[in-house]
Amino acid sequence: MKHHVVILGGSYGGISALRKLQSDPNILITLIDRHPCHYLQTEGYELIAGDTYFSNTIVNLSSLCANYPNVTFRHSTVREIDPKQKRIFLEEGEESYDTLIIAMGCVTKRFECDTQVYHYSSGAKSLRGALKLNRFFQDELYKRLESDRHAKENFNIVIGGAGLSGVEIAASMQHFFNRYYRSNTLSCETLNIHLIASRESVLHGMHPKIIKITTKRLKSLRVKIHTHCRIAAIEDHEAVMTNGEKIPFDFMIFAGGTTANPALKDFEADKNRKGQILVDDSMRCPAYSNLYVIGDAAELKDRQGNILPPTAMTAMGSGTLAAENIINTLDAKALKKADLRIEGIAIALGGKYAAVDIKFIRFSGYPAYLTKKLIEKMYKWPLWWLAYRGFKKIENCRI
Ligand SMILES: Cc1cc2nc3c(=O)[nH]c(=O)nc-3n(C[C@H](O)[C@H](O)[C@H](O)COP(=O)(O)OP(=O)(O)OC[C@H]3O[C@@H](n4cnc5c(N)ncnc54)[C@H](O)[C@@H]3O)c2cc1C
Repeated sequence: MKHHVVILGGSYGGISALRKLQSDPNILITLIDRHPCHYLQTEGYELIAGDTYFSNTIVNLSSLCANYPNVTFRHSTVREIDPKQKRIFLEEGEESYDTLIIAMGCVTKRFECDTQVYHYSSGAKSLRGALKLNRFFQDELYKRLESDRHAKENFNIVIGGAGLSGVEIAASMQHFFNRYYRSNTLSCETLNIHLIASRESVLHGMHPKIIKITTKRLKSLRVKIHTHCRIAAIEDHEAVMTNGEKIPFDFMIFAGGTTANPALKDFEADKNRKGQILVDDSMRCPAYSNLYVIGDAAELKDRQGNILPPTAMTAMGSGTLAAENIINTLDAKALKKADLRIEGIAIALGGKYAAVDIKFIRFSGYPAYLTKKLIEKMYKWPLWWLAYRGFKKIENCRI
């Protein structure tokens, strides 16, 4: 009998695990995701600003899985996991497993307030959220083109959170707006993007040189940076800050942190205060030897025991490690220990400008932009190629 591995979540972590596991002919894999495609969150900033189509930021999961004879894709939402019975309850039906990999990520932390605000706010972690932001942004720009009265009105966007995603979105939107208005010979005085940083600077915790480059670039684009403050309350189209300031907004973007995936809230395991599941150094949930948790759903640490921020890179590393350890277990070999690290970071700062911090090298501008694009394409192109090949296989079966 083949060993059945179920992977919940077909994104950076889940796909990395899948690509490693599929090479073992003694393993059958079922990948389950609530979406038919893998959304490339790391390219979300371009989608939101309107610099790319959404089809450029996805990989079709059915087509990807069709490459492998031992992999099945199931498009459904996970409702509950019963690790004692080794069963998963889905929106439609259920699935049982021998070994489980949880790679369901986390969700945007939203501000607890009047539910009305959700009509004019969104997070950027989901494709739907990113599309909502993009549509709103484009609609507002169009309104300003259509009528002089609208063109004179202020257009305010508040971005709550000045980490990697908040900074990338602010820079890309502001750059798009500046360019759009310049090319239409209209004034760009009216757009105000307010980036809220709870610490003394944007990108708290990153190298001072990267913070300096980023701050300079944001200021040159005319992004308004508010440091040392948090949003204390949201009133009708107005963010009330902890320093008493009130910032009116047309739209708000939540980029101030993440919280546990709701489908994992009732899952009984040790968790940190963000709801991430605690794992051992082989990526297993200590209570169950056949259950691995990877990517943003888990609290990942480096060799020194420092908690790593949630990134695509660590999601991929933990996914590959979990897969290797499943194969090692089946081969009665010792489990491999995690050696997760963030090798570098590339930050998009609007247009053909970025900042890169790789090991001891830090640079910015066009070379950094090319590096960022290369990193994105090195990840995306092999997956697109696999999805294309899988799609052809599906098509040939239909004929
Ligand atoms: C705007 C933005 C920019 C970023 N830029 C970078 C960057 O430059 N570099 C970097 O390293 N990281 C970046 N990140 C962070 C990175 O995207 C995440 O750390 C990464 O996506 C985590 O991967 P994951 O596989 O753990 O989870 P996710 O990518 O969140 O995927 C989770 C998967 O699980 C599925 N799922 C969730 N719930 C269910 C359910 N109930 N049932 C079925 N399926 C479910 C989802 O559909 C999804 O496919 C960025 C994030 C954002 C938002």
